Amino acid sequence: MSISELARSIAESPTLRLNEEARLLREKGLPVTHLGGGEPKNKTPIAAILSSAVKLVSGDTKYVPTDGVPSLKKAIIRYTEENYEHMVQPENVIVSSGAKQAVYNVLFSILNPQDEVLVLAPYWVSYPEMIRMVYGVPVVVTPEDGRYLPRMADIEQAVSPATRAIIVNSPNNPSGLLYPEDLVAEIVQFCERKSLYLIMDDIYHKLVFDGKKAPSAYKYASKDIESSKLIVINGISKLYGMTGFRIGWTIANRKLVEVLNNVQAQTTSCASPISQAAAEGALTGLQSIVEGLRLTIENNRSVMVEELRSFTGVKVAKPDGTFYCFPDFRAYSANSVELSNFLLKKALVVTVPGREFGMEGHLRLTYAGSVKDITEGVSRMKWALDPNAPNEIYIGDRKLVRDWL
Ligand code: PMP
Repeated sequence: MSISELARSIAESPTLRLNEEARLLREKGLPVTHLGGGEPKNKTPIAAILSSAVKLVSGDTKYVPTDGVPSLKKAIIRYTEENYEHMVQPENVIVSSGAKQAVYNVLFSILNPQDEVLVLAPYWVSYPEMIRMVYGVPVVVTPEDGRYLPRMADIEQAVSPATRAIIVNSPNNPSGLLYPEDLVAEIVQFCERKSLYLIMDDIYHKLVFDGKKAPSAYKYASKDIESSKLIVINGISKLYGMTGFRIGWTIANRKLVEVLNNVQAQTTSCASPISQAAAEGALTGLQSIVEGLRLTIENNRSVMVEELRSFTGVKVAKPDGTFYCFPDFRAYSANSVELSNFLLKKALVVTVPGREFGMEGHLRLTYAGSVKDITEGVSRMKWALDPNAPNEIYIGDRKLVRDWL
């Protein structure tokens, strides 16, 4: 079988692989605790269900415009006005099948082979792979040891004549940290000075805790949208916990949106109109759902941080948002892949190795599940690793005795 060199070089999605491993263990009857995934447990908001059901029942389910159903685009424009205090036109908006496709289409549309994109570690696993998939080169900027945000000086130093773009994800998957306002301002102004695209992956921007607010990049842009290279990506996956509907969107200057439209027209034609109806229902329905989800996750975050702070040797930066944290486990192992495999085998806990996010010695843990998942998961990890933790534990109805410390 002949497979292209490029396709062969693309790594498997580690989170999807872990989901599959966890599913297989569960099928064998093993009580796996999943701290690896990236989706909240809420039910789809009723407004979204009704709106997609109406669409489905109408039987009117043909292709729709490539850039999105006009009424959904209107809802996105209103969302942008309300949450970014920024006015955009329908020509500045394109709806895609998830923020993932939105990021990919943008990279496809702005990069020539060998063009470089700065990726700020710790980064979302898909960025470097997507950049490679369009023959670009990811250039990773790593923060100082023990920190999770880049220094402006390191960003500036990483830029070369081949650099075309910087991707920022704040609040950040996997660290959960929010880029402070002055850093966002500096990055926006730097990109304008250097004429670089700035891709803001804002998928978690409403999922922020402790009364904080994600700074809007638009606030610091001096150019109007049509001459600006600022691109903002968002979607319903995290905002409403509607991951399976696969709706995201991009806001950019209209010339770029036209190109994105051509790219999407030749690949997917359009995002599913049934999902677009659901997205419109969610965006125009009761927004207290977002606040309810946010509050639940904020509470989970506090439980997770408290549990980890009593874990000998583990260091954790308190997340400002998202549903992830990214503790430093170097006190136990410098090899996060080995550590994650060990925890799955011995303690039946799914974690994601930090190596996948460009930072060894860390594990990404999710607190999108229940408080019980968090307390159970961390206590099993302590049992497996921490000599101060009790030597025996019950997993399900099985008593396990630790014999490796
Ligand atoms: N960006 C980041 C940083 C993410 O974590 C995710 C989902 N894991 C996405 C984009 C993709 O979201 P969607 O479901 O809309 O494709």
